[in-house]
Amino acid sequence: MPDILVIGSINADLVVRAPRFPQPGETISGDDLKIIPGGKGANQAVAAARQGVSVTMVGRVGNDSFGPELIDNLQQNNVETSHVQIDPRSASGTAIIVVDSNGQNSIVLSPGGNGRVSPADVNSASFSDHRLLLLQLEIPIETVLHATQRARESGLRVLLNPAPARPLPDELISLPDFLVPNETELSLLTGGPVTDIASAEAAARNLLARGAQNLIVTLGANGALIVTSSQVIHVDAYKVDVVDTTAAGDAFIGGFAAKLLETDSLPSTQEQAPALQNAVRYACACGALATTKFGAQPSLPTREEVERFM
Ligand code: ADP
Repeated sequence: MPDILVIGSINADLVVRAPRFPQPGETISGDDLKIIPGGKGANQAVAAARQGVSVTMVGRVGNDSFGPELIDNLQQNNVETSHVQIDPRSASGTAIIVVDSNGQNSIVLSPGGNGRVSPADVNSASFSDHRLLLLQLEIPIETVLHATQRARESGLRVLLNPAPARPLPDELISLPDFLVPNETELSLLTGGPVTDIASAEAAARNLLARGAQNLIVTLGANGALIVTSSQVIHVDAYKVDVVDTTAAGDAFIGGFAAKLLETDSLPSTQEQAPALQNAVRYACACGALATTKFGAQPSLPTREEVERFM
């Protein structure tokens, strides 16, 4: 049985390093273009597949030269792609990324086919033979909502990474088993600043009061915070030499999702609590390792790398 169903975005990241960002109307020279597979959906699918669990992806690439390459990349990473369509009417999702000499980036995202992933695409996938649905917000919100409702009907657990940050309808707060925001996303969802562990806990409790079930807040170099109705636990980050934090969150979620599957067989919440904490600790190791390498998917660690590191 396949383990994880990912319904989400698939992008080509077009990355150029330049000495600085161009002014409006200005042309400057940069290094050679790098084309790197990305998109939060595809990144999280690959992150989970590298942990040795089986992953099916649902999404749309465009009718251009990136489309087949993006599908091929998913296949090379052992992600099942029979539900990834080439949309004849759109371009592939792309992120045009300029990185300056300080390592800051500036990004223009063109959704392409991701913007056309529909409830009908959701219905084309078989839910009953998966155990966990993984969602983000780079596809239309009505598709995310439809997938969540279908998962509930089919008995799948749902993990929603509410990224990029945007307001959510109440059902997308209350229906998912796990909400996994970073500080920016949590702040936008709750309308107050999230800058440290205390403010993250307060904001997470606000979402619990609005019906959320379990919150895992990622806090960058401060690790992660688990907030449920029965526990609040802070998990420290691993100390690493950071090269590039791109996709740390995607690595975290892929690792967390893979470990979460192991808790399926635990009968009581009493036994599940320490298992949840272990899954978050494992996810922190995945996130930390991803910051030690440049780029998105190239930095996502394998299970072997995570186990050696831990
Ligand atoms: P996002 O990439 O979505 O902004 P975070 O920055 O919160 O997400 O990173 C996700 C996880 O990756 C964190 O919870 C942490 O475990 C790990 N991580 C991120 N940055 C660092 C860092 N500088 N040092 C160690 N671990 C990190």
